[in-house]
Amino acid sequence: MFYPDLSTECQVDRGEHIRAIGWLSMDQPFPTGSVPPEFLAVLKSHIETAWQPVLMMGLHCCEFCPKPKPREGRIGGSCNLWIPAESVVYVTPELVAHYVEVHGYQPPEEFIAAVLACPEQNSPAFHELLSRFPQWWKT
Ligand SMILES: [Zn+2]
Repeated sequence: MFYPDLSTECQVDRGEHIRAIGWLSMDQPFPTGSVPPEFLAVLKSHIETAWQPVLMMGLHCCEFCPKPKPREGRIGGSCNLWIPAESVVYVTPELVAHYVEVHGYQPPEEFIAAVLACPEQNSPAFHELLSRFPQWWKT
């Protein structure tokens, strides 16, 4: 499912405060380039401990990797990542780390800065930031 970077809706959330990141698709060009060296490690640590308001059914699979042979696992994931910042919340599929690492995807700078500044997932500071925004899963 494709959503342009920084659009206000994606598969799992939407709203004026939402910024979609990394919902890439084969049909759409995406920016490539280098990212700060520490970015990928920090991004992965967020993904490993990702706070999940909902469990989504089904996997996002990487459309850019060649089709796997039988008995090889597909590269994919079903988790999504919420990164609250001062005025917006970035929402990205966990595949974003794979896109950056393997396909050279360069997310918007403001997202990189938000990831580096974001408190640990599920920490009190994380939930404090997130609580400033409308939360559909609490209704
Ligand atoms: Zn891939």
